[in-house]
Amino acid sequence: MKLGRLLGIDIKMHLTFVLILLWGAFNYGGNAGPLYGLLITVSLFGLVLLHELGHSLAAMAYGITVRDITLLPIGGVARLERMPKNPLQELVVALAGPGVNVLLALLLLPVIFGLALSQEISLSPRALMQPGVLGLLTFLLSANLSLAVFNMIPAFPLDGGRVFRAILGFFVSYERATQIAVITGRVLAVGFGALGLFTGHWMVAAIALLVFMAGGQESKAVAASSLLRRLRVEEALSPHWVTLSPHTTIGQVASIMMNNNQPDFAVLDPLSRRLLGIASSGHVAHAMQEGRWFSRITEIMEHAQHVPTIALNASLDEAQEKLAETSSRVAAVYDGLHFQGLLSIEDIYRAFRFVSQPAV
Ligand SMILES: [Zn+2]
Repeated sequence: MKLGRLLGIDIKMHLTFVLILLWGAFNYGGNAGPLYGLLITVSLFGLVLLHELGHSLAAMAYGITVRDITLLPIGGVARLERMPKNPLQELVVALAGPGVNVLLALLLLPVIFGLALSQEISLSPRALMQPGVLGLLTFLLSANLSLAVFNMIPAFPLDGGRVFRAILGFFVSYERATQIAVITGRVLAVGFGALGLFTGHWMVAAIALLVFMAGGQESKAVAASSLLRRLRVEEALSPHWVTLSPHTTIGQVASIMMNNNQPDFAVLDPLSRRLLGIASSGHVAHAMQEGRWFSRITEIMEHAQHVPTIALNASLDEAQEKLAETSSRVAAVYDGLHFQGLLSIEDIYRAFRFVSQPAV
């Protein structure tokens, strides 16, 4: 569910979130009633949103697009189109979230002291937490500190895991840094998990399990991208592809598709061999259902200017990032100015599966 747009980023909320708001309203309200509880819960997620905006602004400063921020019952997620692999950039992006919470805590501290002193309230947590303006501010202070401390635990997918990898990345390779950070995070997860089980804190045990599994995903993703970095686009490019002229009709393409399972067709200028556009077999099938057998392929193709381009000697890792950045399935491959073929996400997976097969 979309809530709105901030700094060019869509802010979304998961529907289960409404349940959390209700739960918070009755759980945090105390004697002050559910409305106060709701205020507390909403401001808590306000802090989570500011935390995610911290990550997002840091990423945007490095030219990384932020797709959206989603508030989930367990916290927030800012979806970046890619994670910086440069250790310094990853460090800044990872620290920016907890940094916002530390900054807010530092701003709240003198305000709370000032208010408590002027109202002659003793500085005990019990007195400060009484419902009211002071109670709300004190809650926000403790929530900011908890968010900062929890997120800085050095385990993926928490910010602390990324901070730890980034610091290691100054001394060892990105892959090695990830391995060390994943192992450390998993040891911590096992420790917290055991602690949660023995003390009956099931929530802690459940989070520890999630952290343990996230570590595996992170190391797999990094291993995959280091494997892809060693492969070139030209190694994954199929040389036997059928290309189309702009005069080809949908019916003609359909007959080609019957004995060829090519997923995408490049439409080329017959004289200059310049790429005019790309038609996917899905688009062709759709046009056939509409009975457009005699329409030209140029009517349904994606025009070349909307197709991302990639160099023939680029690595498959770069190609995959380019496709992810542009949310595309296919890129046009060029050697200088000359069109060489199409590279799809499936080609990248195929090459990856081929090289990642264990040798027996
Ligand atoms: Zn964070």
